[in-house]
Amino acid sequence: MSSRPPSRERPAPRDIVELRALATRQPDLAAAAALHAELVATVRRVEARIATPSLDVPDDLLRTRLLRGVPLASFGEFAIDWSEVRLLIRQVTDVLRRMDLVDQAASQRLHAVGREAGLPDRARAWYDQVTTAVEDDPEGMWSEVLQWSLKPFLIRTAEVVTRRVSLDEWRRGTCPVCAAEPEFAVITPSGERHLLCGRCHARWPFDGGCPYCGCTDLSQLRTFATADRVYRVTECRACGRYLKALDSQAAGRALLPFYDPVATLPLDAAMMQGR
Ligand SMILES: [Zn+2]
Ligand SMILES: [Zn+2]
Repeated sequence: MSSRPPSRERPAPRDIVELRALATRQPDLAAAAALHAELVATVRRVEARIATPSLDVPDDLLRTRLLRGVPLASFGEFAIDWSEVRLLIRQVTDVLRRMDLVDQAASQRLHAVGREAGLPDRARAWYDQVTTAVEDDPEGMWSEVLQWSLKPFLIRTAEVVTRRVSLDEWRRGTCPVCAAEPEFAVITPSGERHLLCGRCHARWPFDGGCPYCGCTDLSQLRTFATADRVYRVTECRACGRYLKALDSQAAGRALLPFYDPVATLPLDAAMMQGR
């Protein structure tokens, strides 16, 4: 006998609570915060009911891959429940439609792609970063929809992998689990910089300058901090890209992967204006 409440009655995760608070606190971010709160809630509902996926790769092969700089999870090595992915494609598309980010015709196309028999092949191409394109998708929304729809499985896979091997020796600019680029960074209380994967939320230490182009020339890297010191942005003049980071000591909390990228949208706007 268990007295635990059913999963649907669990309190909202912290990132959803913070996103809703952000929507109230900063009216200019209200739309983006509300959108992300809905998307995260949609993804979390599926995440709560999927079985923890096993990764069909022995530990010593994982360690060999880390040493050789090969990402740990190839497509096909972790389980994906395609009926859940298809459901999420419909639900994520409906959220985007409700928020008026796609029109009726685009939403119908996205629904149709979600029903295709070839969906796993499309997902594999996206995962392998070969192509994200879908015909008649001028808004480029397909990769957005697919990313949200695969997220529960990618996040679970990264959790499983990081329980089995330490990512400390990776030290590359791309994700050790899925090979995607970092979306955000966090400065740990001990002053280390960890990168956050935008797809699977894996985190790994990285001290090698710009993760995007590998530039380690400090004169090319400029860092700005917000007035409250909670966030900082490091811009790379060699490749023109930048990475936002949370200073977890100044913030007094850990990184919230669904919240911090949205809370720092004004920094993206500032970086765009500065060009
Ligand atoms: Zn990843
Ligand atoms: Zn760079």
